[in-house]
Amino acid sequence: MQELTGSCLCGNLRYRLTGEPVVSRICWCRDCQHISGNGTVNAIFPTSSIHIEGTLSEYASVADSGNSVRRRFCPHCGCHLFAENTGRPGLSVVRIGTLDDPSAIVPTANIWSSSAASWACLNLALQQYDKQPQQVQPPPSAA
Ligand SMILES: [Zn+2]
Ligand SMILES: [Zn+2]
Repeated sequence: MQELTGSCLCGNLRYRLTGEPVVSRICWCRDCQHISGNGTVNAIFPTSSIHIEGTLSEYASVADSGNSVRRRFCPHCGCHLFAENTGRPGLSVVRIGTLDDPSAIVPTANIWSSSAASWACLNLALQQYDKQPQQVQPPPSAA
């Protein structure tokens, strides 16, 4: 895949993605609804393929799985860009809406659809998971 680029809302933070996404999904968990006001659209990349210009703030919390999730965002505009989960070492979530071309990655599943609001627009052509699907395995190249 060609290199992808993105930024936060105010543009202080920019990033480049030089690897391939492992998976891309729309997450309707309650945590995602709090940070975005809706579901979040995410791609998981090897952390080593994410190149960031600028300094992020972060907020860590414990997920339903018991893993710690570190969400990383712009300290100026609050835009969420990345997240890391201790259950997925070597991998990071990228929020697809922050890409310069958000159409460059197409999600294939809805996860945590049981938590979606009654008015949520779920694409029923995608795979559906009521909660968290089986953990994504790191690619062989990841440490
Ligand atoms: Zn910003
Ligand atoms: Zn979520």
